[in-house]
Amino acid sequence: MNDELATALGPTTSRSYRCACNKAIFLRNTQCLNCARQLGYHVEGRTMLAIEPAPQPERWVLARDAAVAAEPTTPLFQRCANFATASNCNWLIPAGTAEHPHAPENLTPGFCLACTLTRTIPDMSSPVNQELWRKLEIAKRRLLSQLLSLALPVETRLERPNGLAFDLLENVPGGPAVLTGHDEGLITLNIAEADDAEREKIRAAMHESYRTLLGHYRHEIGHYYWDRLVKDTAWLAPCRELFGDETVDYAESLQRHYKEGPPADWPLHYVTSYATTHPWEDWAETWAHYLHMADTVDTAVSFGLDANSVDIESDPYTLDDLWKPDDPNAEHFLRFLNSWVLLTSVLNELTRSMGQPDYYPFVLPREAIGKLHFIHEVIRSASTGVVPEAPTQAAPAPSQSQSQSQSQSSAPSAPAAQPVQTIEAAPVKTD
Ligand SMILES: [Zn+2]
Ligand SMILES: [Zn+2]
Ligand SMILES: [Zn+2]
Repeated sequence: MNDELATALGPTTSRSYRCACNKAIFLRNTQCLNCARQLGYHVEGRTMLAIEPAPQPERWVLARDAAVAAEPTTPLFQRCANFATASNCNWLIPAGTAEHPHAPENLTPGFCLACTLTRTIPDMSSPVNQELWRKLEIAKRRLLSQLLSLALPVETRLERPNGLAFDLLENVPGGPAVLTGHDEGLITLNIAEADDAEREKIRAAMHESYRTLLGHYRHEIGHYYWDRLVKDTAWLAPCRELFGDETVDYAESLQRHYKEGPPADWPLHYVTSYATTHPWEDWAETWAHYLHMADTVDTAVSFGLDANSVDIESDPYTLDDLWKPDDPNAEHFLRFLNSWVLLTSVLNELTRSMGQPDYYPFVLPREAIGKLHFIHEVIRSASTGVVPEAPTQAAPAPSQSQSQSQSQSSAPSAPAAQPVQTIEAAPVKTD
């Protein structure tokens, strides 16, 4: 792959990060193993950076600013309050209002964006829960770093009533089962999904080829962005043409899916069998695939992997497979898609050579290509801050107000609060 491919995906950023000593560092690192400098995720720069102690206690400057650390104009940072918890969050935040004229008002004081979004965490008196929470937050930070890189809106409930929030809940004896789902910006995850054995058991029982925390997050955030970017906009009409009429009864659709299973010819039309359930699920599944593809390609491009040098037979997609073949950006997107196919063919062989499951255990049907192209355009549009107005002939909003997910919660949409150390089991509907 090349730079052209990278630009075809829009405003993405590198996944290859370097310490001030020039050694490679990675998204979850907190300290460089080579020079021992502290490391943190710099949200504005969408990158990992080395930091050094500032003259003030518990304040940091970027290593590149170390020579001017004492000057009043040098940006000061502090570590997220969850750095010292089991979450071990490595995101940096601008130091408090007194030192920083632009202290963000969208954050819970002391917490970074990723942690502000987490509204509820499970009981941390349990060491098992601490480990599950750590895994959940690592996956969530990866998700969020990608959303920020794609310039998608990531808004907390301090700035938008139906902004994003996460409830990470555990089943409690006698309480309602916690189901993973989305409702009006609130994403609920059952923390048992972070238990490898538990998740694998569910994956096998559901006959799924892929089940991960990151996959859950990417699916559920797809529901959020449907609400945020498609509903009540000019995107709704073309979205219905591609994904179907989302006003069909959601609960009935789910029941039918679990009773009758997917239609036999689903592989010709959908990315997964679950996508057949309802147009909202097709959107969320396809959205998740887009994020998988974009992150993998970003990572490959960042490290100089070149799919053009892959020697493998493939049946490439053509412009006719796209949603808008005439779009000036269509050729770029097509190259991205076809490189993705080449790249994943090799990645699958690589994982097989280690006896691991396929890296990408899916086949993208041609019908899904148009949907992916549409999602690409919705994301590109959002990154420019321009969401088209709904035309007057737009179909009315669905009569069901809140069933665009596998589950729903009656939890109030209160402003995001500092993550609490309690279980707040929201009642959720089974899917
Ligand atoms: Zn270093
Ligand atoms: Zn944090
Ligand atoms: Zn869903």
